Amino acid sequence: IPDEFTKAAGVLQEIQAHGFEAYFVGGSVRDALLDQPIHDVDIATSAYPEEIKQIFHRTIDVGIDHGTVLVLIGEEQYEITTFRTESTYQDFRRPDTVTFVRSLKEDLKRRDFTINALAMDVNGEIIDLFDGMDDLEKKIIRAVGNPKERFHEDALRMMRGLRFASQLDFTIETNTLSAIEEFHPLLGKISVERIAVEFIKLLLGKNRRAALLPFIETECYQYCPGLKKSGEALLNFSELPNKQIESESQAWTLLIQTMGLKENDIRGFLKAWKQSNQMIHEVQSLIYGLNQRLIGDWKRMDLFNLGLDAVLSIEKLLFYFGQKSTLEEAKEGYLDLPIHDRKQLALTGNDLLAYFDKNPGKWLGDMLNMLEIAVVNGQITNNKEALIAYAKDRIDKE
Ligand code: ATP
Ligand code: MG
Repeated sequence: IPDEFTKAAGVLQEIQAHGFEAYFVGGSVRDALLDQPIHDVDIATSAYPEEIKQIFHRTIDVGIDHGTVLVLIGEEQYEITTFRTESTYQDFRRPDTVTFVRSLKEDLKRRDFTINALAMDVNGEIIDLFDGMDDLEKKIIRAVGNPKERFHEDALRMMRGLRFASQLDFTIETNTLSAIEEFHPLLGKISVERIAVEFIKLLLGKNRRAALLPFIETECYQYCPGLKKSGEALLNFSELPNKQIESESQAWTLLIQTMGLKENDIRGFLKAWKQSNQMIHEVQSLIYGLNQRLIGDWKRMDLFNLGLDAVLSIEKLLFYFGQKSTLEEAKEGYLDLPIHDRKQLALTGNDLLAYFDKNPGKWLGDMLNMLEIAVVNGQITNNKEALIAYAKDRIDKE
């Protein structure tokens, strides 16, 4: 039993001492059984939230309507959720009412996939009411109960199933897959933000191809922003070397590059996916740099403008397009630049104003740009006299 569970065992015992049931549930149980690193352990209990709050001294109501109480013990915190059922999903995304129940079985029944519906007691004993262990062993994503009903209740589960296929390198079971095929238009009811979370996890998973193919075949992509007409591009994307992608910005870059989006369309595409300006900016830089690098060696100004992190990301992306990554060379090229920041110029705007006795204006920015380029490219050395001389020469020529 992994450490995370041993540490939390006392919490389960405390709840049990008060006459209630308590189990580890969900992703942590699944990942522990798969020998994968686990994030946080989720605890499910027959005790109602008010009862949990009477058992533990320090608690925070993080989602009391959904039955979740955060229990603080020492430095640790544990999410404890009351067994619950969910009923009548009017809007295809969240239950109208959550009902607390005393039965573990009822709680496990409302979970999405059999591998996510396993519980573990304090002794490490697995409670497996839906053959989740069997599916774990066979590496199968299977909906709990009737997949059509389950996706009709909550359409996001279709995207979750696809992302688990990628993350875990599992196959989606046939009936579950046909239900996705049938109900994929319900994704239209789900917010882009929530789809994006799952899509990005899918892209970053260990076997993205295993998820992209059903994502395309079931036509789920038709209900994702900016992908409606991209069936073929997505197929091409799925055929890139299936090596795991390192970061979100690299994932978007690979996708956009494969789609052949025009430079001016990148922002709109990522905006439609509700990505941050920071992410958009990063991806735009990566796309620019990647295309520069695909046609030749690094130019010093590109190294300078992009910065080391982007340069190394781009080197890694070359691999997917059948080119060799030259990480060490690129890093050396970057580190060898005479300066790495405008601030390192041996001459400031104020110096220029004082020396030439001119009013500030457009000429000043232009001049600093010119000096920066000349220094980065090694045309002049970065000292005050050389920079003044260069500037003077420019001004005289005007
Ligand atoms: P991850 O490692 O990404 O956190 P996870 O399985 O823990 O994976 P969570 O979103 O943290 O996923 O959800 C925790 C558990 O809650 C799941 O394992 C599953 O049992 C249940 N669950 C989450 N979302 C849904 C859903 N949309 N429908 C049904 N059950 C869900
Ligand atoms: Mg989780």
